[in-house]
Amino acid sequence: MNNRDLIKKLRDNRELSRDEYKQLLISMTKEDEEFLYKNAREVREEYYGKDVYVRGLIEFTNYCRRDCLYCGIRASNKECDRYRLSREQILECAETGYELGFRTFVMQGGEDMKFSDEEMCMIISDLKERYPDCAITLSIGERERTSYEKYFAAGADRFLLRHESITPEHYSRLHSESQKIETRVRCLKDLKEIGYQVGCGIMIGSPFQTVDHLISDLLFMKEFKPHMIGMGPFIPHAQTPFRDRPAGKLEDTLHMLGIVRLMLPYVLLPATTALGTIVPTGRELGLLAGANVVMPNLSPTGVRAKYTLYDGKICTGDEAAECVACLKRRIESTGYRLAVARGDCAERC
Ligand code: SAH
Repeated sequence: MNNRDLIKKLRDNRELSRDEYKQLLISMTKEDEEFLYKNAREVREEYYGKDVYVRGLIEFTNYCRRDCLYCGIRASNKECDRYRLSREQILECAETGYELGFRTFVMQGGEDMKFSDEEMCMIISDLKERYPDCAITLSIGERERTSYEKYFAAGADRFLLRHESITPEHYSRLHSESQKIETRVRCLKDLKEIGYQVGCGIMIGSPFQTVDHLISDLLFMKEFKPHMIGMGPFIPHAQTPFRDRPAGKLEDTLHMLGIVRLMLPYVLLPATTALGTIVPTGRELGLLAGANVVMPNLSPTGVRAKYTLYDGKICTGDEAAECVACLKRRIESTGYRLAVARGDCAERC
């Protein structure tokens, strides 16, 4: 079958075999790409129209107990200038965001146990009380199931936890010895059972990643049926063991976005900041390949530069309002529009 037929088949059946994914991933021509993205946009528009959802990202701590080899805020990076936002600062970020039209706040951070369950619940319920019409997303890594239950009871709606790679040997090469893919998957399953809208995902072009790993990740995502999928290029950080590794490629990332849109039509799929970092128009191209979410930064400008997972991160100097104005222009340049809405998943998963 030629690639166009494979793309049609993926759109109709919402899945392909391993060999078919492989053919697509390794032999896509410019014309095939355009055909993939056109189909991805049509499917995205069936489910979400022209709306692009915005998520206000609050990077509330860069302390982390983990040692992911790719990440700039890993525990062993002694040069990282650590910070924590106070509850008041977090609420201020949300206030700014609400005024700018954000109806989802993403609390993202390193795995910082100083934010106890009690503290997390207090922040979540404060936010919920002030902004009952907003969704709260957590992106705080691995915790006990009982903790996840407490945050959900306090009002958290969604949880992002990228699985990073479903292939155990690959996962181990990206993480420290104590980190296991089984734990990550257990967490994802717990989160879903508890009732969160859940996001998994991977970096594209992470060190040692092969096409076969990517296909295994596609098959895992198809089976797990997440509400959200985070996929952006890997970008090296100078203070990590992967400092000399090449960044993931724009084309590879766009191919994966298009394929995932056809495989899971209802999924919430961000055009990531990492994609906008490797290429200035990366996020626009992501939206045109099937993505329907953007996640601008709401963190106070004073700490933004300190939350560096990778080098060269964009928008670290801008005020939130400038970021939104810039993003709005970028989104409109693609023919889509920035929506003031919670932007929940179109399907119960
Ligand atoms: N600590 C939390 C959330 C912060 S990390 C967690 O583990 O879920 C959020 C995501 O950033 C990670 O899942 C990873 O996929 C991505 N990331 C980290 N370092 C990166 C790098 N060097 N390049 C690109 N993405 C990176």
